[in-house]
Amino acid sequence: MRLTKFTDLALRAVMRLAVAEPGAPLTTREVAEAMDVPYTHMAKAISRLQHLGVVEARRGRGGGLELTGLGHRASVGWLVRELEGEDEVVACEGDPPCPLRAACRLRRALADAQEAFYATLDPLTVSEVVASPTGPVLISLTGRRSG
Ligand code: SF4
Repeated sequence: MRLTKFTDLALRAVMRLAVAEPGAPLTTREVAEAMDVPYTHMAKAISRLQHLGVVEARRGRGGGLELTGLGHRASVGWLVRELEGEDEVVACEGDPPCPLRAACRLRRALADAQEAFYATLDPLTVSEVVASPTGPVLISLTGRRSG
């Protein structure tokens, strides 16, 4: 199974924000640069994270992005499910739809495999995935890209 680029960007943002210094919020641009991705792509991912209640943005002087308490405690499996949406791993209902779709055992097996993939990530929290050695590397990233 392969995650969408959107999910990957959102997870990178969550991880970077999870190790931000308390009281020193980061901007979307700083997160985008640290993760070496275009600003506009990162802005869309962060907007989705705000809707999920995982990230909050403070306005004004000293403002910026912070991971919420929910964000720190969140299950990676839950986050990936939310970010990936309801899509199946194959486009059985595509255009044109697959003629086997109404009675396909493979489709059921793939749905079970997808659920098993998510279930493996369910016990893992955001705080756990940014433990060493990942956290110190995240903090050291300054980025090379802008725009
Ligand atoms: S063969 Fe089965 S799993 Fe593959 S596209 Fe058709 S319905 Fe879906």
